[in-house]
Amino acid sequence: MTQLADQPHFIDGAARQPTADRWFTTLNPATGAPLARAARGDAADVDAAVAAASQACEAWAAMTGAERGRILTRAAHILRERNDEIARLETLDTGKPIAESSVVDVASAADCLEYFGGVAGSIAGQQVDLGPNAFGYVRREPLGVCAGIGAWNYPIQIAAWKAAPALACGNTMVFKPSEMTPVTAGILAEIFIDAGLPPGVFNVVQGDREAGQALVAHPGVAKVSLTGEVGTGRKIMAAAAETLKHVTMELGGKSPLIIFADADLDNAVSAAMMANFYTQGEVCSNGTRVFVARDLLDRFVEALAARTAKLKIGDPLDPETHVGALISEEHRDRVLGFIDQGVTEGARLVIGGRRAAGLDGWFVEPAIFVAEDDGLTISRDEIFGPVMTILPFDDEDEVLARANATEFGLAAGVFTSDLARAHRTVRRLQAGVCWINNYNITPIELPFGGVKQSGLGRENGTAAIEHYTQLKTVYVELGDVDCPYPA
Ligand code: NAD
Repeated sequence: MTQLADQPHFIDGAARQPTADRWFTTLNPATGAPLARAARGDAADVDAAVAAASQACEAWAAMTGAERGRILTRAAHILRERNDEIARLETLDTGKPIAESSVVDVASAADCLEYFGGVAGSIAGQQVDLGPNAFGYVRREPLGVCAGIGAWNYPIQIAAWKAAPALACGNTMVFKPSEMTPVTAGILAEIFIDAGLPPGVFNVVQGDREAGQALVAHPGVAKVSLTGEVGTGRKIMAAAAETLKHVTMELGGKSPLIIFADADLDNAVSAAMMANFYTQGEVCSNGTRVFVARDLLDRFVEALAARTAKLKIGDPLDPETHVGALISEEHRDRVLGFIDQGVTEGARLVIGGRRAAGLDGWFVEPAIFVAEDDGLTISRDEIFGPVMTILPFDDEDEVLARANATEFGLAAGVFTSDLARAHRTVRRLQAGVCWINNYNITPIELPFGGVKQSGLGRENGTAAIEHYTQLKTVYVELGDVDCPYPA
């Protein structure tokens, strides 16, 4: 049994015990055994963290972008050096396969720090010519203290995706990881200090909704960036409105993946698997509604089922494992409940969908349904588990209407060998991120985020800079003041 060290807060450059000495214990999803004790933050802890972040603001913002960028780049190098150790902790904390965390999670966090380390020196305003006697300039300034609130599916990646652009722009941050996965945020904070980040620029408050609510309500916080469920997003936006905070919302989805009859079958099957079974299906952008051209349906389902049957479910620390454990017993039961509902409501279960036999943790066999009805619960709701619903279609207009018939709009994918159709379809899809002939690829250079109820704002790419800065307009007079009043 692996029991990790306590996870306190990290405030003003050092670990900090919770003011009220309240703690909670997380469980290892793969075994159900206790994993780590984490501080249960409250308003007093949030006050301390916001005070440290406010104190650090002026000096951090006064550094040049290149100086800030150098520190972020150093942090990226340290993250990469510590990849294997952090990947192991991430796997223990989340239940996801080490085969993923060792090549994706830490690497994606490092990519982000490196990218914004490079971008920091070129963040700039604008100069506007107003004739010979005046000009204007627009300063791009940091917002101040930003709050980051994370989900549990990609803990270190989410922390880095929020911290890197915020810090590059000269803001400071208080980050609250999900109470389900408290283990790696403190390591990121330590790495920042090792990289030369001044104390107080990046702080971590552990805890659950109580700490999150205190952060969102805090008058010293200028912006909240959330990764979480749509319902949480609504509550946080409403609470942030009390003090008119900026918000970025990275929320849930029920994204469509459309496979036309002329698609490359092997690639389409690979993408559908990646779009549903990676991290046990606990990925916000997953393409869980797989629309397949009726002509291709039988061949597609056969190939998909044959490959899905080969997936190895089990110990996430085993490098051979493809499918790990769901985050909690409650979530496992919720996912199994959706699968039962799919069967009851008349969808055809092709493969999987049971509790994985002989394992103590919260494992579910990847499930594939074929359904004719877009109105079924499994066709409509975000399940956030390894459950794919295949929905046959007959023509392009029909499939686009069905793909867009959802309140979500995070992502979408199209598989076809017809170039014109690919771009025509993407143009009509209501989604923040689209993939043509691939799925779930999120390079740091490209903006990521949703439309409709999947979110507001963007992470990654230079677009993120817009969401972590504000503009100051300056008019400069070079001549006399033109005044209509008598001298
Ligand atoms: P969640 O909404 O339950 O929790 C997210 C975070 O919000 C946690 O840290 C939680 O403590 C905090 N929180 C909850 N209520 C709060 C409140 N009222 N005020 C302040 N903070 C509060 O989400 P989750 O279960 O951790 O994550 C799964 C969800 O996240 C899924 O819906 C998934 O689609 C979404 N997600 C989205 C993205 C994206 O980038 N779009 C990425 C990953 C996950």
